[in-house]
Amino acid sequence: MVAQVSGVVVFGVAGLVINVEVEVAAGLPSVGVIGLADAAVGESKWRVRSAIGNAGCKWPAARVTIGLSPADIPKHGTSLDLPIAVGVLLATEQIPAGSARDATFIGELGLDGDLRPFRAALPAAIAAQRCGISRVYVAPGSARQVAVVPGVEVVVIRDLAHLVSVLRGESSPDAIPDAEDVTAAPSIIDMEDLRGHVHGRFALEVAAAGGHHLSLLGPPGVGKTMLAERLPTILPDLDEQTAIDVTAIHAVAGRLPPGAGLVRRPPFQAPHHSASATALLGTVRGHRAIPGALTLAHGGVLFLDEAPEFTRPSLEGLRQPMESGVVRIMRAAESVELPARFQLVIAANPCPCGHGVGKGASCRCTAMAKRRYSERLSGPLRDRIDIRLEVLRPTMGELATASAEGSAQIANRVGLARTRAATRYVGLPWSLNAHLPAGELRRHWAPDPDGCALLIEAERGGLSLRGADRVVRVAWTLADLLEADEPGREHIAMALGLRGADGGPKDD
Ligand SMILES: [Zn+2]
Repeated sequence: MVAQVSGVVVFGVAGLVINVEVEVAAGLPSVGVIGLADAAVGESKWRVRSAIGNAGCKWPAARVTIGLSPADIPKHGTSLDLPIAVGVLLATEQIPAGSARDATFIGELGLDGDLRPFRAALPAAIAAQRCGISRVYVAPGSARQVAVVPGVEVVVIRDLAHLVSVLRGESSPDAIPDAEDVTAAPSIIDMEDLRGHVHGRFALEVAAAGGHHLSLLGPPGVGKTMLAERLPTILPDLDEQTAIDVTAIHAVAGRLPPGAGLVRRPPFQAPHHSASATALLGTVRGHRAIPGALTLAHGGVLFLDEAPEFTRPSLEGLRQPMESGVVRIMRAAESVELPARFQLVIAANPCPCGHGVGKGASCRCTAMAKRRYSERLSGPLRDRIDIRLEVLRPTMGELATASAEGSAQIANRVGLARTRAATRYVGLPWSLNAHLPAGELRRHWAPDPDGCALLIEAERGGLSLRGADRVVRVAWTLADLLEADEPGREHIAMALGLRGADGGPKDD
């Protein structure tokens, strides 16, 4: 008797449906696994055997062969325990034939038949759904996440004995447990806290509205971190697809509490400059992908404080994800791709001593030291940063007249500006001004004639072509925020102001 059941293994944050075939044949009692199984999958036969016994069923006194296909793909981990158990029970007619049809089984079995939540249940369920599987059996702790996958019926089971009785039609599955979506507990940080920072507040709003990368240059203690931390508070909720991706990433990384629902808010990651390139880019350990800060920031904000202090491999590692939105991790012959589309905020001191701002009277750095410091952020990296703000301590006057507008109000304007842009770009492969490709920008999205004239003046004054592209992108965002149909002279002028502070030798 041969039984077929589907299961899923997960590579990185993507699942792959595996067909599990169990053959029970007359012969000396034995059990073998074929199809590129690693040690954990190989040991699965012992866990499953013990779990089946503890669930009140019988392991056959026969020759059991377990085949896993596609055969050329290495299988790893313990996620195939459950489908193997179901296969054995089907092949020995302990559960009704056909009861596992159009279904997949996601979970790790304990020796006692317990079903443990599988941290990659969400990507596993997405893979199953893409293969046309309509029913997914999961442990209660994974149910909430799997329930967000459209077109999938979630069947919640506690343990193997419960599964057997559900498949026999003798009892009902559990209800999907209630869980709150992860909307990040009412945020205690808010734009209200940023009194005085008139330019900083405005730059954040523009960065949020257009999806622009941002650099903050200023002496220590002036409020750069406070600014960066508040960027997520004015970003809109994640769209459905991004929310699913972000949830899958954080679940695989083990960062979500058990039973958590969907992550709806943009994440914020602020790795320390001593973090290794591995901690930033991620790695693969024993076939399991460990997402790094770049991937954990997917859909949200990656903040690098004291950016020039990061190692060169770390900073260089940013380039490729900033171009493609994915980070590629190579290990031995394998390569895993993890999503990494984030909004970058970097903060830096103006010079090694930190005081080289304004007239720089108290700065004691040599011109050489200053240059070396600012050159640590390489041209290609800086080239992608549209908004460069010099952050200074608010003056008494600014503090006195300070607007204390809160995040909710600003987020509202950001949302409206993003809608304007998305409407303009409908049918195109980007929806944010920051993602407008340079070629397209020059061909189809030039500012109005007055704006163009000002841009040409700036080019005569030394603004490079790439610099001009960045100015036009930001000008579009300003036009969106100010409800103009296209950027004019005033928007170009403001955008030129926003790209001002660069700190070092001009890279354009
Ligand atoms: Zn200095």
